[in-house]
Amino acid sequence: NTSLHELDPDVAAAVDAELHRQQSTLEMIASENFAPVAVMEAQGSVLTNKYAEGYPGRRYYGGCEHVDVIEQIAIDRVKALFGAEHANVQPHSGAQANAAAMFALLKPGDTIMGLNLAHGGHLTHGMKINFSGKLYDVVAYHVGDDGRVDMAEVERLAKEKQPKLIVAGWSAYPRQLDFAAFRRIADEVGAYLMVDMAHFAGLVAAGLHPNPVPHAHVVTTTTHKTLGGPRGGVILSTAELAKKINSAVFPGQQGGPLEHVIAAKAVAFKVAAGEEFADRQRRTLEGARILAERLVRDDTRAAGVSVLSGGTDVHLVLVDLRDSELDGQQAEDRLHEVGITVNRNAVPNDPRPPMVTSGLRIGTPALATRGFTAEDFTEVADVIAEALKPSYEASALSARVKALADKHPLYPGLNK
Ligand code: PLP
Repeated sequence: NTSLHELDPDVAAAVDAELHRQQSTLEMIASENFAPVAVMEAQGSVLTNKYAEGYPGRRYYGGCEHVDVIEQIAIDRVKALFGAEHANVQPHSGAQANAAAMFALLKPGDTIMGLNLAHGGHLTHGMKINFSGKLYDVVAYHVGDDGRVDMAEVERLAKEKQPKLIVAGWSAYPRQLDFAAFRRIADEVGAYLMVDMAHFAGLVAAGLHPNPVPHAHVVTTTTHKTLGGPRGGVILSTAELAKKINSAVFPGQQGGPLEHVIAAKAVAFKVAAGEEFADRQRRTLEGARILAERLVRDDTRAAGVSVLSGGTDVHLVLVDLRDSELDGQQAEDRLHEVGITVNRNAVPNDPRPPMVTSGLRIGTPALATRGFTAEDFTEVADVIAEALKPSYEASALSARVKALADKHPLYPGLNK
């Protein structure tokens, strides 16, 4: 019964320091969020001790009667949340969900299409040294000059290259995709359509973004981004593909499922079906829109700062620094200095190297979870705009960040 602080003060001190970092800074990494205490409680439970290879009612281990209940609740809730015929809640992460979905539908050497990494795609959508780029023959599509996915290119490449799978989804893209158009193209060439909604799943759950489930053969997601749950993955599919998907996850890709994480996913799906969650997603979208608008004020634009595609329909904006003296690394460092955490991000046709980049990806989900309102997001946007100008006053901006953090306490009950 020894506590973490007693048993391992070194690790405990670093965990405490991380709690303090999350509480005292403004988290604007678009893929991050703050899980509810109940989600973390489930994730830190005795379920971590249990082996449960197989699926509810069909396990390869004894003593699974309680984890069966939990996993079935998670499955039922996520199916209801997104209107899916089948769900597999076992993938340990988004990358493993994608690996399993591709393993289910493809053979090594098959052709897949995905959004180019530098244009907003994810590593698992066909990056060269990722499993997806090594196992499959990858044809990448791109965004056009307007910053939006070039559907004419998608159609042309699909007809020319006859892919077996088309992946629609993104990690750094500020607009919505046309899932019906993707499906029409996939049908024309006899390809499967897989939508990776990892980033925008929370918006879909709240009814604030088109749902890909009616259009796609398979939909993958993470559970920790806009969805606000524990780190993990989920695969949704048609009933017809259920068997293939399940056997691709286990035994195809994974061994024992993480039932403690699955319990936490179940809790997160319950939260995501509620009105408080929908309100949070509305504030997430509003915050991103405010950010996009205020980052292209005249004085900011004069400093070479703009946003890709001219705005946003989702929970993030992509700041374009191609015309700025400031590069992505410097901009990330400046915001870090004043207490705002973001990540630098390559922009399409980026003139700077990948470790430096000419962009920033800034997201609003974590601050919306913290309770930020339109007024707060306006203040955040103005602090960011000030920090990106050639001359800036770091200490004054840090004080404004601290005032915002103090206004919205995070996890107050967790302080020792
Ligand atoms: N898919 C997309 C679109 C993502 O943005 C990410 C994570 O950034 C993933 C999959 C991978 O998720 P994970 O980091 O859980 O493996």
